[in-house]
Amino acid sequence: MARRQGWCSQLCRLPAAAIEEVVPTAENAHTEPFDLVVIGGGPAGYAAALYGASAGLDIALVEKHKVGGTCLHVGCIPAKELLETASVYRTVKGASAFGVVAGEPSLEWSVTLTRKQNIVDQLFKGLSGLLKGRKVTMFDGVGSLKADRTVRVSGGASGDVELKGQYVLLATGSVPRTIPGFDIDGELVVTSDELLSIPALPERAVVIGGGAIGCEFASMMADLGTKVTILEALPKLLPGCDEDITNLVVRSFKKRSIDVRTGVIVSGHTPGPSGTKVSFGDGETIEVDLVVIAVGRRPHTDGLGLDGTAVKLTDRGYIDVDKYCRTAEPNVFGAGDVIATPALAHVGFAEGILVAKQILGDDPLPIDYSRVPWCIYCHPEVAFTGLSEQQAKEAGFDVVVSKHRFIGNGRALIVGEPDGMVKIIAEKQADGTGGRILGVHMVGPWVTEQLGQAYLSVNWEATVAEVAEFIWPHPTMSELFGESVLALTGRSLHG
Ligand code: NAD
Repeated sequence: MARRQGWCSQLCRLPAAAIEEVVPTAENAHTEPFDLVVIGGGPAGYAAALYGASAGLDIALVEKHKVGGTCLHVGCIPAKELLETASVYRTVKGASAFGVVAGEPSLEWSVTLTRKQNIVDQLFKGLSGLLKGRKVTMFDGVGSLKADRTVRVSGGASGDVELKGQYVLLATGSVPRTIPGFDIDGELVVTSDELLSIPALPERAVVIGGGAIGCEFASMMADLGTKVTILEALPKLLPGCDEDITNLVVRSFKKRSIDVRTGVIVSGHTPGPSGTKVSFGDGETIEVDLVVIAVGRRPHTDGLGLDGTAVKLTDRGYIDVDKYCRTAEPNVFGAGDVIATPALAHVGFAEGILVAKQILGDDPLPIDYSRVPWCIYCHPEVAFTGLSEQQAKEAGFDVVVSKHRFIGNGRALIVGEPDGMVKIIAEKQADGTGGRILGVHMVGPWVTEQLGQAYLSVNWEATVAEVAEFIWPHPTMSELFGESVLALTGRSLHG
Protein backbone atom coordinates (compact mmCIF):
# COMPACT_ATOMS: atom_id res chain seq x y z
CA MET A 1 0.00 0.00 0.00
CA ALA A 2 1.35 3.43 -0.98
CA ARG A 3 2.37 5.63 1.95
CA ARG A 4 2.67 9.39 1.59
CA GLN A 5 4.61 9.94 -1.58
CA GLY A 6 4.76 12.05 -4.78
CA TRP A 7 2.97 15.37 -4.88
CA CYS A 8 1.73 15.15 -1.34
CA SER A 9 5.12 14.52 0.24
CA GLN A 10 6.48 17.60 -1.58
CA LEU A 11 3.54 19.63 -0.33
CA CYS A 12 4.16 18.47 3.21
CA ARG A 13 7.67 19.89 3.19
CA LEU A 14 6.40 23.36 2.34
CA PRO A 15 6.15 25.90 5.15
CA ALA A 16 2.66 26.24 6.69
CA ALA A 17 1.86 29.54 4.94
CA ALA A 18 2.56 28.00 1.52
CA ILE A 19 0.29 25.04 2.25
CA GLU A 20 -2.66 27.45 2.64
CA GLU A 21 -2.22 28.71 -0.90
CA VAL A 22 -1.88 25.42 -2.78
CA VAL A 23 -5.13 24.07 -4.21
CA PRO A 24 -4.59 20.77 -6.01
CA THR A 25 -5.26 21.26 -9.72
CA ALA A 26 -4.63 19.35 -12.96
CA GLU A 27 -1.22 21.02 -13.16
CA ASN A 28 0.05 20.08 -9.73
CA ALA A 29 -1.91 16.84 -9.38
CA HIS A 30 -0.78 13.81 -7.47
CA THR A 31 0.62 11.28 -9.95
CA GLU A 32 0.48 8.14 -7.80
CA PRO A 33 -2.87 6.51 -7.01
CA PHE A 34 -4.16 7.50 -3.58
CA ASP A 35 -4.87 4.69 -1.16
CA LEU A 36 -8.40 6.04 -0.88
CA VAL A 37 -10.35 8.70 -2.77
CA VAL A 38 -13.43 9.86 -0.87
CA ILE A 39 -16.22 11.70 -2.68
CA GLY A 40 -18.20 13.75 -0.15
CA GLY A 41 -16.89 15.38 3.01
CA GLY A 42 -19.82 14.81 5.38
CA PRO A 43 -19.65 12.63 8.52
CA ALA A 44 -19.22 9.33 6.60
CA GLY A 45 -16.62 10.70 4.18
CA TYR A 46 -14.57 12.72 6.64
CA ALA A 47 -14.68 9.91 9.25
CA ALA A 48 -13.17 7.50 6.69
CA ALA A 49 -10.56 10.14 5.80
CA LEU A 50 -9.61 11.04 9.38
CA TYR A 51 -9.57 7.46 10.63
CA GLY A 52 -7.70 6.13 7.60
CA ALA A 53 -5.18 8.98 7.66
CA SER A 54 -4.58 8.45 11.39
CA ALA A 55 -3.39 4.96 10.45
CA GLY A 56 -1.16 6.23 7.62
CA LEU A 57 -3.34 5.96 4.51
CA ASP A 58 -2.76 8.46 1.71
CA ILE A 59 -6.21 9.96 1.18
CA ALA A 60 -7.87 12.42 -1.22
CA LEU A 61 -11.16 14.01 -0.20
CA VAL A 62 -13.33 15.62 -2.89
CA GLU A 63 -15.94 18.10 -1.66
CA LYS A 64 -17.99 20.57 -3.70
CA HIS A 65 -19.09 22.79 -0.82
CA LYS A 66 -17.53 22.68 2.65
CA VAL A 67 -16.39 19.69 4.67
CA GLY A 68 -18.84 18.82 7.44
CA GLY A 69 -21.80 17.99 5.22
CA THR A 70 -25.45 18.22 6.15
CA CYS A 71 -24.73 17.50 9.82
CA LEU A 72 -22.49 20.51 10.33
CA HIS A 73 -23.95 23.03 7.91
CA VAL A 74 -27.70 22.34 7.61
CA GLY A 75 -28.50 19.56 10.04
CA CYS A 76 -27.57 18.32 13.50
CA ILE A 77 -25.42 21.21 14.69
CA PRO A 78 -27.40 24.29 13.60
CA ALA A 79 -30.74 22.62 14.42
CA LYS A 80 -29.59 21.73 17.93
CA GLU A 81 -28.37 25.27 18.51
CA LEU A 82 -31.84 26.61 17.68
CA LEU A 83 -33.38 24.01 19.99
CA GLU A 84 -30.99 25.14 22.74
CA THR A 85 -32.17 28.72 22.23
CA ALA A 86 -35.73 27.44 22.68
CA SER A 87 -34.65 25.68 25.86
CA VAL A 88 -33.06 28.84 27.29
CA TYR A 89 -36.22 30.77 26.43
CA ARG A 90 -38.39 28.18 28.25
CA THR A 91 -36.08 28.29 31.25
CA VAL A 92 -36.24 32.08 31.50
CA LYS A 93 -40.03 31.95 31.13
CA GLY A 94 -40.23 29.51 34.02
CA ALA A 95 -37.60 31.28 36.15
CA SER A 96 -40.11 32.74 38.62
CA ALA A 97 -40.87 29.20 39.88
CA PHE A 98 -37.28 29.16 41.20
CA GLY A 99 -37.66 32.61 42.74
CA VAL A 100 -35.56 34.13 40.00
CA VAL A 101 -37.13 37.35 38.74
CA ALA A 102 -36.33 37.65 35.03
CA GLY A 103 -39.51 39.07 33.56
CA GLU A 104 -41.06 38.00 30.27
CA PRO A 105 -38.31 37.00 27.78
CA SER A 106 -38.19 38.31 24.25
CA LEU A 107 -36.23 36.92 21.34
CA GLU A 108 -33.57 38.60 19.24
CA TRP A 109 -33.58 36.06 16.43
CA SER A 110 -30.68 37.70 14.60
CA VAL A 111 -28.47 37.09 17.66
CA THR A 112 -29.61 33.46 17.69
CA LEU A 113 -28.69 33.08 14.01
CA THR A 114 -25.27 34.65 14.58
CA ARG A 115 -24.58 32.40 17.56
CA LYS A 116 -25.62 29.35 15.54
CA GLN A 117 -23.36 30.37 12.65
CA ASN A 118 -20.41 31.05 14.94
CA ILE A 119 -20.67 27.52 16.33
CA VAL A 120 -20.89 26.05 12.82
CA ASP A 121 -17.90 28.13 11.69
CA GLN A 122 -15.82 27.14 14.71
CA LEU A 123 -16.48 23.44 14.14
CA PHE A 124 -15.79 23.84 10.40
CA LYS A 125 -12.46 25.44 11.17
CA GLY A 126 -11.61 22.64 13.60
CA LEU A 127 -12.54 19.93 11.12
CA SER A 128 -10.59 21.58 8.27
CA GLY A 129 -7.57 21.83 10.57
CA LEU A 130 -7.85 18.16 11.54
CA LEU A 131 -7.96 17.05 7.90
CA LYS A 132 -5.00 19.25 7.06
CA GLY A 133 -3.09 18.05 10.11
CA ARG A 134 -3.58 14.44 8.99
CA LYS A 135 -2.36 15.37 5.48
CA VAL A 136 -5.60 14.51 3.71
CA THR A 137 -5.38 16.09 0.22
CA MET A 138 -8.50 18.17 -0.36
CA PHE A 139 -9.99 18.71 -3.82
CA ASP A 140 -12.61 21.40 -4.37
CA GLY A 141 -15.23 20.41 -6.95
CA VAL A 142 -17.84 17.81 -7.92
CA GLY A 143 -16.46 14.28 -7.91
CA SER A 144 -17.75 11.65 -10.34
CA LEU A 145 -16.74 8.02 -10.56
CA LYS A 146 -15.53 6.47 -13.81
CA ALA A 147 -14.21 3.00 -14.63
CA ASP A 148 -11.12 1.64 -12.84
CA ARG A 149 -11.62 3.74 -9.69
CA THR A 150 -10.87 6.97 -11.52
CA VAL A 151 -12.51 10.01 -9.97
CA ARG A 152 -13.01 13.11 -12.05
CA VAL A 153 -13.13 16.40 -10.16
CA SER A 154 -14.74 19.37 -11.92
CA GLY A 155 -16.52 22.66 -11.40
CA GLY A 156 -14.54 23.90 -8.41
CA ALA A 157 -11.29 25.65 -7.49
CA SER A 158 -9.34 22.47 -8.28
CA GLY A 159 -10.44 22.71 -11.95
CA ASP A 160 -10.67 19.49 -13.97
CA VAL A 161 -8.54 16.82 -12.31
CA GLU A 162 -8.53 13.05 -12.57
CA LEU A 163 -7.59 11.06 -9.48
CA LYS A 164 -6.99 7.40 -9.13
CA GLY A 165 -7.68 5.47 -5.96
CA GLN A 166 -6.76 1.96 -4.87
CA TYR A 167 -10.12 2.29 -3.17
CA VAL A 168 -12.97 4.77 -3.60
CA LEU A 169 -15.66 5.74 -1.11
CA LEU A 170 -18.91 7.30 -2.34
CA ALA A 171 -20.33 9.40 0.51
CA THR A 172 -22.40 12.09 -1.21
CA GLY A 173 -25.15 12.29 1.41
CA SER A 174 -28.79 13.26 1.06
CA VAL A 175 -31.05 16.24 0.39
CA PRO A 176 -34.55 17.03 1.71
CA ARG A 177 -37.46 15.34 -0.07
CA THR A 178 -40.21 17.61 -1.32
CA ILE A 179 -43.85 16.94 -2.14
CA PRO A 180 -45.84 17.80 -5.28
CA GLY A 181 -47.63 21.14 -5.13
CA PHE A 182 -45.16 22.67 -2.66
CA ASP A 183 -42.38 24.52 -4.48
CA ILE A 184 -39.59 25.49 -2.13
CA ASP A 185 -39.31 29.29 -2.36
CA GLY A 186 -37.37 29.83 0.87
CA GLU A 187 -40.01 32.25 2.18
CA LEU A 188 -43.48 30.72 2.30
CA VAL A 189 -42.43 27.11 1.77
CA VAL A 190 -39.14 25.82 3.21
CA THR A 191 -37.31 22.64 4.04
CA SER A 192 -34.94 22.27 6.97
CA ASP A 193 -32.19 23.80 4.78
CA GLU A 194 -33.91 27.18 4.54
CA LEU A 195 -35.60 27.16 7.94
CA LEU A 196 -32.24 27.12 9.69
CA SER A 197 -31.47 30.59 8.35
CA ILE A 198 -34.94 32.12 8.05
CA PRO A 199 -34.79 35.89 8.76
CA ALA A 200 -37.71 35.83 11.23
CA LEU A 201 -39.86 33.20 12.88
CA PRO A 202 -43.45 33.08 11.60
CA GLU A 203 -46.57 33.70 13.69
CA ARG A 204 -48.25 30.57 12.32
CA ALA A 205 -46.57 27.55 10.76
CA VAL A 206 -47.58 24.16 9.48
CA VAL A 207 -45.00 21.36 9.60
CA ILE A 208 -45.69 18.60 7.07
CA GLY A 209 -44.20 15.36 8.39
CA GLY A 210 -43.95 14.34 12.04
CA GLY A 211 -40.60 12.51 11.98
CA ALA A 212 -37.45 13.61 13.81
CA ILE A 213 -36.98 16.78 11.75
CA GLY A 214 -40.66 17.76 11.89
CA CYS A 215 -40.92 17.25 15.66
CA GLU A 216 -37.66 19.10 16.38
CA PHE A 217 -38.66 22.15 14.34
CA ALA A 218 -42.25 22.12 15.61
CA SER A 219 -40.96 22.02 19.20
CA MET A 220 -38.41 24.80 18.62
CA MET A 221 -40.83 27.17 16.89
CA ALA A 222 -43.63 26.55 19.41
CA ASP A 223 -41.33 27.31 22.35
CA LEU A 224 -40.30 30.54 20.65
CA GLY A 225 -43.88 31.72 20.16
CA THR A 226 -45.07 30.35 16.79
CA LYS A 227 -48.49 28.70 16.61
CA VAL A 228 -47.60 25.30 15.12
CA THR A 229 -49.64 22.54 13.48
CA ILE A 230 -48.08 19.20 12.53
CA LEU A 231 -49.67 17.28 9.66
CA GLU A 232 -48.50 13.66 9.60
CA ALA A 233 -49.67 11.06 7.07
CA LEU A 234 -49.15 8.04 9.35
CA PRO A 235 -51.33 7.28 12.40
CA LYS A 236 -48.59 8.39 14.83
CA LEU A 237 -45.64 10.77 15.12
CA LEU A 238 -42.00 9.65 15.21
CA PRO A 239 -42.02 6.44 13.16
CA GLY A 240 -39.87 3.74 14.77
CA CYS A 241 -40.38 5.07 18.31
CA ASP A 242 -41.95 3.02 21.07
CA GLU A 243 -45.63 3.93 21.40
CA ASP A 244 -45.45 4.87 25.12
CA ILE A 245 -42.67 7.31 24.30
CA THR A 246 -44.52 8.89 21.37
CA ASN A 247 -47.65 9.29 23.52
CA LEU A 248 -45.68 11.32 26.08
CA VAL A 249 -44.21 13.54 23.34
CA VAL A 250 -47.67 14.18 21.91
CA ARG A 251 -49.03 14.99 25.38
CA SER A 252 -46.28 17.53 25.93
CA PHE A 253 -46.77 19.02 22.45
CA LYS A 254 -50.50 19.43 23.10
CA LYS A 255 -49.82 21.10 26.47
CA ARG A 256 -47.69 23.62 24.58
CA SER A 257 -50.54 24.22 22.08
CA ILE A 258 -48.93 22.35 19.17
CA ASP A 259 -51.82 20.98 17.11
CA VAL A 260 -50.93 17.40 16.15
CA ARG A 261 -52.98 15.98 13.28
CA THR A 262 -52.10 12.40 12.32
CA GLY A 263 -53.41 10.16 9.53
CA VAL A 264 -53.96 13.15 7.24
CA ILE A 265 -53.13 13.57 3.57
CA VAL A 266 -51.99 17.03 2.49
CA SER A 267 -53.34 17.98 -0.94
CA GLY A 268 -51.81 21.40 -1.69
CA HIS A 269 -51.71 25.05 -0.73
CA THR A 270 -53.04 28.35 -2.06
CA PRO A 271 -51.04 31.50 -1.33
CA GLY A 272 -53.11 34.59 -0.45
CA PRO A 273 -52.56 38.14 0.77
CA SER A 274 -51.67 36.92 4.25
CA GLY A 275 -49.76 33.68 4.11
CA THR A 276 -51.06 30.54 2.46
CA LYS A 277 -53.95 28.11 2.94
CA VAL A 278 -52.86 24.50 3.27
CA SER A 279 -55.49 21.91 2.33
CA PHE A 280 -55.55 18.50 3.97
CA GLY A 281 -57.82 15.65 5.05
CA ASP A 282 -61.49 15.87 4.08
CA GLY A 283 -61.51 19.41 2.71
CA GLU A 284 -59.95 21.03 5.80
CA THR A 285 -57.72 24.08 5.43
CA ILE A 286 -55.39 25.98 7.70
CA GLU A 287 -53.92 29.43 7.02
CA VAL A 288 -50.27 29.89 7.95
CA ASP A 289 -47.31 32.17 7.29
CA LEU A 290 -44.85 29.33 6.74
CA VAL A 291 -44.98 25.75 5.48
CA VAL A 292 -42.12 23.50 6.61
CA ILE A 293 -41.66 20.37 4.51
CA ALA A 294 -40.15 17.61 6.68
CA VAL A 295 -41.11 14.45 4.82
CA GLY A 296 -37.72 12.72 4.87
CA ARG A 297 -34.52 12.95 2.85
CA ARG A 298 -33.48 11.37 -0.43
CA PRO A 299 -30.05 10.10 -1.45
CA HIS A 300 -27.91 12.60 -3.33
CA THR A 301 -26.28 11.00 -6.38
CA ASP A 302 -26.59 13.90 -8.87
CA GLY A 303 -23.42 14.24 -10.92
CA LEU A 304 -21.88 11.10 -9.45
CA GLY A 305 -21.46 9.53 -12.90
CA LEU A 306 -20.98 5.79 -12.25
CA ASP A 307 -20.89 5.11 -16.05
CA GLY A 308 -18.65 2.20 -16.88
CA THR A 309 -18.78 0.97 -13.27
CA ALA A 310 -20.74 -1.88 -11.72
CA VAL A 311 -22.12 0.36 -8.95
CA LYS A 312 -25.91 -0.07 -8.78
CA LEU A 313 -28.65 2.10 -7.31
CA THR A 314 -31.61 0.61 -5.44
CA ASP A 315 -35.11 1.30 -6.75
CA ARG A 316 -35.32 4.19 -4.23
CA GLY A 317 -32.11 5.70 -5.62
CA TYR A 318 -29.67 4.71 -2.85
CA ILE A 319 -26.23 3.29 -3.66
CA ASP A 320 -26.63 -0.44 -3.28
CA VAL A 321 -24.14 -1.92 -0.80
CA ASP A 322 -23.69 -5.11 1.19
CA LYS A 323 -23.32 -5.24 4.97
CA TYR A 324 -19.67 -4.18 4.66
CA CYS A 325 -20.65 -1.06 2.65
CA ARG A 326 -19.19 -2.66 -0.53
CA THR A 327 -20.79 -1.81 -3.90
CA ALA A 328 -20.81 -4.27 -6.80
CA GLU A 329 -17.71 -2.51 -8.22
CA PRO A 330 -14.57 -4.03 -6.68
CA ASN A 331 -12.91 -1.75 -4.08
CA VAL A 332 -15.64 0.88 -4.32
CA PHE A 333 -17.66 1.50 -1.14
CA GLY A 334 -20.72 3.58 -0.23
CA ALA A 335 -21.44 5.05 3.22
CA GLY A 336 -23.63 7.60 4.99
CA ASP A 337 -27.00 8.96 3.89
CA VAL A 338 -26.42 7.91 0.27
CA ILE A 339 -26.90 4.25 1.27
CA ALA A 340 -30.18 2.92 2.67
CA THR A 341 -29.20 2.81 6.36
CA PRO A 342 -30.44 5.16 9.15
CA ALA A 343 -29.71 8.75 8.07
CA LEU A 344 -27.81 9.62 11.25
CA ALA A 345 -24.41 11.34 11.42
CA HIS A 346 -23.07 8.82 13.94
CA VAL A 347 -24.12 5.94 11.69
CA GLY A 348 -22.17 7.70 8.92
CA PHE A 349 -19.12 7.91 11.23
CA ALA A 350 -19.41 4.18 11.96
CA GLU A 351 -19.72 3.33 8.26
CA GLY A 352 -16.75 5.52 7.35
CA ILE A 353 -14.64 3.74 9.98
CA LEU A 354 -15.90 0.33 8.80
CA VAL A 355 -14.69 1.16 5.27
CA ALA A 356 -11.30 2.50 6.44
CA LYS A 357 -10.73 -0.59 8.60
CA GLN A 358 -11.26 -2.90 5.63
CA ILE A 359 -8.79 -0.89 3.54
CA LEU A 360 -6.31 -1.16 6.41
CA GLY A 361 -6.64 -4.95 6.29
CA ASP A 362 -8.67 -5.34 9.50
CA ASP A 363 -11.55 -7.79 9.68
CA PRO A 364 -14.30 -5.61 11.20
CA LEU A 365 -17.78 -6.75 12.15
CA PRO A 366 -20.64 -5.27 10.14
CA ILE A 367 -22.82 -2.64 11.87
CA ASP A 368 -25.93 -3.90 13.66
CA TYR A 369 -28.42 -1.28 12.51
CA SER A 370 -31.17 -2.62 14.77
CA ARG A 371 -29.27 -1.39 17.84
CA VAL A 372 -27.85 1.99 16.83
CA PRO A 373 -28.51 4.93 19.17
CA TRP A 374 -31.29 7.34 18.17
CA CYS A 375 -31.60 10.81 19.69
CA ILE A 376 -34.33 13.33 18.91
CA TYR A 377 -33.86 16.77 20.43
CA CYS A 378 -37.43 18.06 20.57
CA HIS A 379 -38.82 18.97 23.99
CA PRO A 380 -39.16 16.55 25.69
CA GLU A 381 -36.11 14.78 24.26
CA VAL A 382 -36.35 11.21 22.97
CA ALA A 383 -33.53 8.65 22.98
CA PHE A 384 -33.59 4.96 22.25
CA THR A 385 -31.59 1.93 21.23
CA GLY A 386 -32.64 -1.61 20.38
CA LEU A 387 -36.11 -3.05 20.03
CA SER A 388 -39.33 -1.32 21.04
CA GLU A 389 -41.86 -3.43 22.97
CA GLN A 390 -43.87 -3.96 19.80
CA GLN A 391 -40.81 -4.85 17.68
CA ALA A 392 -39.60 -7.33 20.33
CA LYS A 393 -42.99 -9.06 20.41
CA GLU A 394 -43.17 -9.12 16.61
CA ALA A 395 -39.70 -10.69 16.56
CA GLY A 396 -41.08 -13.53 18.74
CA PHE A 397 -39.49 -12.58 22.08
CA ASP A 398 -41.32 -13.26 25.33
CA VAL A 399 -40.61 -9.99 27.12
CA VAL A 400 -40.78 -8.23 30.47
CA VAL A 401 -41.03 -4.47 30.54
CA SER A 402 -40.30 -1.87 33.18
CA LYS A 403 -41.43 1.75 32.96
CA HIS A 404 -40.27 4.38 35.39
CA ARG A 405 -41.23 8.04 35.31
CA PHE A 406 -39.01 11.03 35.94
CA ILE A 407 -41.62 12.44 38.36
CA GLY A 408 -40.05 10.20 41.02
CA ASN A 409 -36.49 11.32 40.25
CA GLY A 410 -34.96 13.98 42.51
CA ARG A 411 -32.77 15.66 39.91
CA ALA A 412 -35.62 15.87 37.37
CA LEU A 413 -37.78 17.61 39.99
CA ILE A 414 -34.90 19.94 40.90
CA VAL A 415 -34.45 21.08 37.30
CA GLY A 416 -38.21 21.39 36.93
CA GLU A 417 -38.59 18.75 34.21
CA PRO A 418 -40.58 15.88 35.76
CA ASP A 419 -42.33 14.72 32.53
CA GLY A 420 -40.84 11.64 30.97
CA MET A 421 -40.09 7.97 31.30
CA VAL A 422 -37.47 5.26 30.94
CA LYS A 423 -38.82 2.04 29.47
CA ILE A 424 -36.74 -1.13 29.33
CA ILE A 425 -37.60 -4.22 27.36
CA ALA A 426 -35.85 -7.47 28.34
CA GLU A 427 -36.17 -11.13 27.50
CA LYS A 428 -38.39 -12.91 30.05
CA GLN A 429 -36.71 -15.69 32.01
CA ALA A 430 -38.47 -18.80 33.34
CA ASP A 431 -38.85 -17.19 36.81
CA GLY A 432 -40.47 -14.08 35.28
CA THR A 433 -37.50 -11.78 35.80
CA GLY A 434 -35.60 -10.02 33.01
CA GLY A 435 -32.73 -11.64 31.10
CA ARG A 436 -30.95 -10.00 28.18
CA ILE A 437 -31.79 -6.31 27.70
CA LEU A 438 -33.30 -5.92 24.22
CA GLY A 439 -34.20 -2.25 24.09
CA VAL A 440 -34.18 0.96 26.10
CA HIS A 441 -36.52 3.83 25.23
CA MET A 442 -36.44 7.16 27.00
CA VAL A 443 -38.31 10.43 26.88
CA GLY A 444 -37.68 13.38 29.17
CA PRO A 445 -34.99 15.73 30.44
CA TRP A 446 -31.48 15.26 28.99
CA VAL A 447 -32.22 11.70 27.85
CA THR A 448 -30.01 12.18 24.78
CA GLU A 449 -27.11 12.53 27.25
CA GLN A 450 -28.23 9.44 29.19
CA LEU A 451 -28.45 7.06 26.25
CA GLY A 452 -24.80 5.93 26.40
CA GLN A 453 -25.35 3.56 29.33
CA ALA A 454 -28.38 2.06 27.58
CA TYR A 455 -26.50 1.75 24.31
CA LEU A 456 -23.67 -0.15 25.99
CA SER A 457 -26.07 -2.46 27.83
CA VAL A 458 -28.02 -3.39 24.69
CA ASN A 459 -25.00 -3.70 22.41
CA TRP A 460 -22.91 -5.60 24.94
CA GLU A 461 -25.91 -7.96 25.19
CA ALA A 462 -25.85 -7.43 28.93
CA THR A 463 -28.42 -9.09 31.18
CA VAL A 464 -30.59 -7.35 33.75
CA ALA A 465 -28.70 -9.15 36.57
CA GLU A 466 -25.33 -7.90 35.27
CA VAL A 467 -26.38 -4.27 34.85
CA ALA A 468 -28.23 -4.23 38.20
CA GLU A 469 -24.86 -4.76 39.94
CA PHE A 470 -23.67 -1.28 38.96
CA ILE A 471 -23.97 1.91 41.01
CA TRP A 472 -25.44 5.13 39.62
CA PRO A 473 -24.43 8.50 41.02
CA HIS A 474 -27.08 10.25 43.12
CA PRO A 475 -28.80 12.59 42.50
CA THR A 476 -28.74 12.24 38.73
CA MET A 477 -31.34 11.62 36.09
CA SER A 478 -29.30 8.62 34.96
CA GLU A 479 -30.37 6.83 38.16
CA LEU A 480 -33.75 6.22 36.59
CA PHE A 481 -32.16 3.78 34.16
CA GLY A 482 -30.54 1.93 37.08
CA GLU A 483 -33.86 1.82 38.98
CA SER A 484 -35.65 0.52 35.88
CA VAL A 485 -33.11 -2.26 35.38
CA LEU A 486 -33.24 -3.19 39.08
CA ALA A 487 -37.03 -3.53 38.92
CA LEU A 488 -36.63 -6.24 36.27
CA THR A 489 -34.75 -8.43 38.76
CA GLY A 490 -38.03 -8.77 40.66
CA ARG A 491 -36.76 -6.56 43.52
CA SER A 492 -36.63 -2.80 43.65
CA LEU A 493 -35.66 0.29 45.56
CA HIS A 494 -37.71 3.41 44.97
CA GLY A 495 -39.81 2.40 41.98
P1 NAD B 1 -38.57 10.82 8.61
O1 NAD B 1 -38.65 9.83 7.51
O2 NAD B 1 -38.04 10.43 9.92
O3 NAD B 1 -40.05 11.42 8.87
C1 NAD B 1 -40.82 11.97 7.83
C2 NAD B 1 -42.28 11.89 8.22
O4 NAD B 1 -43.03 12.53 7.21
C3 NAD B 1 -42.79 10.47 8.33
O5 NAD B 1 -43.46 10.35 9.57
C4 NAD B 1 -43.76 10.35 7.16
O6 NAD B 1 -44.85 9.52 7.43
C5 NAD B 1 -44.21 11.80 6.98
N1 NAD B 1 -44.68 12.12 5.64
C6 NAD B 1 -44.12 11.75 4.47
N2 NAD B 1 -44.83 12.29 3.44
C7 NAD B 1 -45.83 13.01 4.00
C8 NAD B 1 -46.89 13.82 3.48
N3 NAD B 1 -47.03 14.01 2.16
N4 NAD B 1 -47.76 14.40 4.34
C9 NAD B 1 -47.60 14.24 5.69
N5 NAD B 1 -46.63 13.49 6.22
C10 NAD B 1 -45.75 12.89 5.40
O7 NAD B 1 -37.80 12.06 7.99
P2 NAD B 1 -37.29 13.41 8.63
O8 NAD B 1 -37.92 13.70 9.94
O9 NAD B 1 -37.45 14.41 7.54
O10 NAD B 1 -35.76 13.12 8.84
C11 NAD B 1 -34.94 12.70 7.74
C12 NAD B 1 -33.85 11.79 8.21
O11 NAD B 1 -32.94 12.51 9.01
C13 NAD B 1 -34.39 10.64 9.02
O12 NAD B 1 -33.70 9.47 8.70
C14 NAD B 1 -34.08 11.06 10.42
O13 NAD B 1 -33.86 9.95 11.27
C15 NAD B 1 -32.82 11.88 10.26
N6 NAD B 1 -32.76 12.89 11.31
C16 NAD B 1 -32.53 12.49 12.56
C17 NAD B 1 -32.51 13.42 13.56
C18 NAD B 1 -32.25 12.99 14.94
O14 NAD B 1 -32.07 11.81 15.15
N7 NAD B 1 -32.25 13.90 15.90
C19 NAD B 1 -32.77 14.75 13.31
C20 NAD B 1 -33.02 15.10 12.03
C21 NAD B 1 -33.02 14.15 11.03
